[in-house]
Amino acid sequence: MAKVLIVDDSKMSRRMLKTIIEGIGHEIVGEGSNGEEGVKLYKETQPDIVTMDITMPEMDGINCLKAIKEFDANANVIMVTAAGQSAKLMDALKAGAKEFICKPYEPEQVINAVKEVLK
Ligand SMILES: [Mg+2]
Repeated sequence: MAKVLIVDDSKMSRRMLKTIIEGIGHEIVGEGSNGEEGVKLYKETQPDIVTMDITMPEMDGINCLKAIKEFDANANVIMVTAAGQSAKLMDALKAGAKEFICKPYEPEQVINAVKEVLK
Protein backbone atom coordinates (compact mmCIF):
# COMPACT_ATOMS: atom_id res chain seq x y z
CA MET A 1 0.00 0.00 0.00
CA ALA A 2 1.33 3.40 -1.00
CA LYS A 3 0.68 6.77 0.65
CA VAL A 4 -0.78 9.21 -1.87
CA LEU A 5 -1.19 13.00 -1.72
CA ILE A 6 -3.73 14.61 -4.06
CA VAL A 7 -3.21 18.25 -5.06
CA ASP A 8 -6.04 19.74 -7.15
CA ASP A 9 -8.19 22.85 -6.81
CA SER A 10 -11.30 20.99 -7.99
CA LYS A 11 -13.11 19.20 -5.19
CA MET A 12 -14.80 16.94 -7.73
CA SER A 13 -11.48 16.01 -9.30
CA ARG A 14 -9.99 15.24 -5.86
CA ARG A 15 -12.97 13.03 -5.03
CA MET A 16 -12.63 11.11 -8.32
CA LEU A 17 -8.91 10.53 -7.85
CA LYS A 18 -9.45 9.48 -4.23
CA THR A 19 -12.09 6.92 -5.22
CA ILE A 20 -9.92 5.42 -7.98
CA ILE A 21 -6.72 5.31 -5.93
CA GLU A 22 -8.35 3.96 -2.77
CA GLY A 23 -10.06 1.40 -5.01
CA ILE A 24 -6.70 -0.22 -5.76
CA GLY A 25 -5.74 -0.34 -2.11
CA HIS A 26 -3.68 2.81 -1.56
CA GLU A 27 -4.10 5.35 1.22
CA ILE A 28 -4.85 9.03 0.62
CA VAL A 29 -2.78 10.83 3.25
CA GLY A 30 -3.69 14.38 2.26
CA GLU A 31 -5.60 16.61 -0.13
CA GLY A 32 -4.38 20.07 -1.11
CA SER A 33 -6.37 22.61 -3.09
CA ASN A 34 -3.45 24.74 -4.28
CA GLY A 35 0.31 24.50 -4.70
CA GLU A 36 1.16 26.08 -1.37
CA GLU A 37 -0.94 23.53 0.48
CA GLY A 38 0.62 20.85 -1.70
CA VAL A 39 4.16 21.71 -0.59
CA LYS A 40 3.12 21.96 3.07
CA LEU A 41 1.27 18.62 2.97
CA TYR A 42 4.13 16.92 1.14
CA LYS A 43 6.51 17.87 3.96
CA GLU A 44 4.02 16.81 6.64
CA THR A 45 2.90 13.50 5.14
CA GLN A 46 5.96 12.39 3.09
CA PRO A 47 3.82 10.50 0.57
CA ASP A 48 5.06 7.85 -1.88
CA ILE A 49 3.12 9.44 -4.74
CA VAL A 50 1.61 12.85 -5.51
CA THR A 51 -1.08 13.55 -8.12
CA MET A 52 -0.59 17.15 -9.19
CA ASP A 53 -3.10 19.26 -11.09
CA ILE A 54 -1.39 21.90 -13.26
CA THR A 55 -3.85 24.79 -13.11
CA MET A 56 -4.48 25.97 -9.53
CA PRO A 57 -4.70 29.31 -7.71
CA GLU A 58 -1.96 30.69 -5.39
CA MET A 59 0.78 28.38 -6.64
CA ASP A 60 0.29 26.27 -9.78
CA GLY A 61 1.22 22.62 -10.23
CA ILE A 62 4.51 23.35 -12.00
CA ASN A 63 5.82 25.54 -9.18
CA CYS A 64 4.51 23.11 -6.59
CA LEU A 65 6.31 20.26 -8.38
CA LYS A 66 9.55 22.29 -8.42
CA ALA A 67 9.27 23.10 -4.70
CA ILE A 68 8.61 19.46 -3.84
CA LYS A 69 11.56 18.30 -5.98
CA GLU A 70 13.80 20.80 -4.19
CA PHE A 71 12.74 19.28 -0.86
CA ASP A 72 12.88 15.66 -2.10
CA ALA A 73 14.64 14.92 -5.40
CA ASN A 74 13.13 11.41 -5.43
CA ALA A 75 9.51 12.54 -5.18
CA ASN A 76 7.12 10.58 -7.42
CA VAL A 77 4.82 13.15 -8.98
CA ILE A 78 2.07 12.36 -11.52
CA MET A 79 0.86 15.46 -13.37
CA VAL A 80 -2.84 15.83 -14.11
CA THR A 81 -3.25 17.98 -17.22
CA ALA A 82 -6.03 19.23 -19.43
CA ALA A 83 -6.18 19.66 -23.21
CA GLY A 84 -3.99 22.46 -24.54
CA GLN A 85 -1.39 22.26 -21.77
CA SER A 86 1.36 20.49 -23.70
CA ALA A 87 3.89 23.31 -23.14
CA LYS A 88 3.28 23.21 -19.40
CA LEU A 89 3.42 19.44 -19.45
CA MET A 90 6.86 19.60 -21.09
CA ASP A 91 7.99 21.97 -18.31
CA ALA A 92 6.69 19.51 -15.74
CA LEU A 93 8.50 16.55 -17.29
CA LYS A 94 11.72 18.61 -17.44
CA ALA A 95 11.24 19.49 -13.76
CA GLY A 96 11.07 15.80 -12.89
CA ALA A 97 7.44 14.66 -13.10
CA LYS A 98 7.40 10.89 -13.55
CA GLU A 99 4.06 10.36 -15.29
CA PHE A 100 1.05 12.30 -16.53
CA ILE A 101 -2.67 11.83 -16.93
CA CYS A 102 -4.81 13.94 -19.30
CA LYS A 103 -8.28 15.09 -18.30
CA PRO A 104 -10.82 13.74 -18.96
CA TYR A 105 -9.28 10.43 -17.93
CA GLU A 106 -10.54 6.90 -17.48
CA PRO A 107 -9.83 5.20 -14.12
CA GLU A 108 -7.51 2.83 -15.99
CA GLN A 109 -5.13 5.69 -16.87
CA VAL A 110 -4.85 6.71 -13.22
CA ILE A 111 -4.28 3.11 -12.16
CA ASN A 112 -1.59 2.60 -14.81
CA ALA A 113 0.23 5.82 -13.88
CA VAL A 114 0.24 4.85 -10.19
CA LYS A 115 1.53 1.35 -11.03
CA GLU A 116 4.21 2.79 -13.28
CA VAL A 117 5.69 5.12 -10.63
CA LEU A 118 5.67 2.34 -8.03
CA LYS A 119 7.82 0.06 -10.23
MG1 LIG B 1 -7.23 22.92 -11.62
